[in-house]
Amino acid sequence: MSVELLGFNIDDLTFESAIKKARILIDTPQVSQVITINPEMFQTAEKNQNFANIINNADMVIADGVGVELALKLTGYKIKRIPGVDFARKLLEESAKSNIPVAIVGAKEEVVNKAVFNLKQEIPGLNIVYFHNGYFDNDEEIYSQIKAKSPKLILVALGAPRQEEFIYNAKNIINPALMIGIGGGLDVWSGYVKRAPKIFQKLGIEWLYRTITQPSRFKRIFPTLPMFLIKALTYKNKI
Ligand code: UDP
Repeated sequence: MSVELLGFNIDDLTFESAIKKARILIDTPQVSQVITINPEMFQTAEKNQNFANIINNADMVIADGVGVELALKLTGYKIKRIPGVDFARKLLEESAKSNIPVAIVGAKEEVVNKAVFNLKQEIPGLNIVYFHNGYFDNDEEIYSQIKAKSPKLILVALGAPRQEEFIYNAKNIINPALMIGIGGGLDVWSGYVKRAPKIFQKLGIEWLYRTITQPSRFKRIFPTLPMFLIKALTYKNKI
């Protein structure tokens, strides 16, 4: 089941049912796309029709972050957020248990190296068959390297909307797999960016911690949220 927010469908799933759906998509004979949507992505989609189309064609759109959860609540839907980084991490653990081959693309060279090193240590049996940093010009080359390794789960950390475009364009090129855009996930797993303390995570104000500790994000993210909530409310009222 899904609900609509600002013209886009969002899956109405709990964390566990989202993982179950992802497991099914991993075994589906096509390239599937999961989008972990946040307020900034709605804002981008408003100006970028191609990005809007990609969201509309995704196999799964999950509400990443308290902003989307709050907008859904204001428009009458009670859906709990699924932090993209937790969702991807759980899928890595599931993949390790079932020996599903994994690929990781994104972030700076030292960041992806450290993230892969940490993940292998922390998740026994994790089978990472391919990884590459996120600073490349020739997408075709990366697609063919991925294709040669046939991973079934591919995490892409290039930031939005670049990662969603990269995943969408992979669809007719690489072998069947589930692909997820994970934004700054590798920065977190590498340890280069600290996640907010648990209490911030529980209260859903991880963004507040991040904007305080990374002031450059503040200017970008802070004005987005109130505007996003107002738009969500007025959009609903128009119907
Ligand atoms: N990134 C990348 N290639 C690029 C731009 C960004 O690999 O051309 C990586 C960046 O190193 C970071 C991740 O994408 O690990 C997320 O970037 P950003 O913080 O800009 O995006 P957000 O987390 O806000 O989606």
